[in-house]
Amino acid sequence: MLLIKNGRVIDPASKTDAAMDLLLDGEKIQEVAAAGKIGAGAGAEILDAKGLMVAPGFIDLHAHLREPGQESSETMETGTHAAARGGFTAVCCMPNTKPINDNASVTRFILDRARATGSVRVWPIGAASVGSKGEAISEIAGMKEAGIVAVSDDGKPIATAKLARQVLDYCRSLDLPVIEHAEDVSLAAGAVMREGVTSTKLGLRGMPAAAEAVCVARDVQLAELTGARLHIAHLSAKASLEQVHSAKSRGLRVTCEVTPHHFTLIDEDVTYDSRFKMNPPLASREDRIALLEGLADGTVDAIATDHAPHEPALKEVEFDRAPFGILGFETALALALQQLVHSGKTSLMRMVELFTMGPARVLGIERKIAAGQPADLTIFSTDRAWTYSVEESPSKSRNSPFDGRKFKGGPAATIVAGRIVHKG
Ligand SMILES: [Zn+2]
Repeated sequence: MLLIKNGRVIDPASKTDAAMDLLLDGEKIQEVAAAGKIGAGAGAEILDAKGLMVAPGFIDLHAHLREPGQESSETMETGTHAAARGGFTAVCCMPNTKPINDNASVTRFILDRARATGSVRVWPIGAASVGSKGEAISEIAGMKEAGIVAVSDDGKPIATAKLARQVLDYCRSLDLPVIEHAEDVSLAAGAVMREGVTSTKLGLRGMPAAAEAVCVARDVQLAELTGARLHIAHLSAKASLEQVHSAKSRGLRVTCEVTPHHFTLIDEDVTYDSRFKMNPPLASREDRIALLEGLADGTVDAIATDHAPHEPALKEVEFDRAPFGILGFETALALALQQLVHSGKTSLMRMVELFTMGPARVLGIERKIAAGQPADLTIFSTDRAWTYSVEESPSKSRNSPFDGRKFKGGPAATIVAGRIVHKG
């Protein structure tokens, strides 16, 4: 038994924002009541959440945990430890491991490793095509039975419209969302950042915003044709967001996520430092403004980290040669507080929704604070001053552009299935 006292419960699903106490009994929430109304039974552990927010457990729709195959960059153990420190209680891991998660035996391996070594829930995403090669559709039904929650060829788009149609069609019958890394590879070929004044100044090859928007347009058409659930990963461009907005207004089952780095940084922040290299690349000033609006007005469904660890040796090379991607778990909440809440762009309730109910809805599940629900909770501060130091991260990698950044508020405790997996 764990009694969480004196916290301010923020639950978007029930629109609750009130001082409440929670009693957790093993893996479930047993009781939720007004502050002071629950007596601690003998032997109950007490967590004093005075001055802190108590939210449903945060879900990250998009992460790379690198196991199996790239354990020098991250493992289930180190990745989920970093996720717990970031306040995440569940993490969806992309299939671009070695081997690729394109069949049930890899899915089962991931789930076994997560159970044995992980500190938060791991929900695998299966590859859309065999080897994510974009040729043949993968064994999606078998993977669903083994436990995948979505499919994606992340790292790249589903290669052709014909295959994307087939995958969407098949996933509609299984009621699985298809997560698209939207990129027209012919427009993006050779590019290492967003095309614009900064890419010209730096002499780096850029990709236009259209590289993303062209693929989003294709997929929205196919979502309409098939009636399937389409989710756009790490959406970065205003033009893409406008298409998601229009698809939603037409009643299509189209959703999207935005990363903290895309709502915080822009292409003008890019230097030759490879910690500013990710895909999709940091976008324009105008794109960032549109993303902030979309996060506020409901066009964006979720904040997802795209946590992409690369061991230091891989990232410490010239910008052109470095792999794409940065760490994301431990700075996501603090960046959201900074860029969305403290700046007055969104309410605290809306920000919590983007980490909880929003991603849950994309997956077709519920996430709320009520008796009988899983005892997954994220407890955080909105005012504690702290500085992010990547050296202290349990991740095996160090590729964060936010090292040394000062924050106001961040994760305080993470509870998964009634167990405290992080307390800061
Ligand atoms: Zn991607």
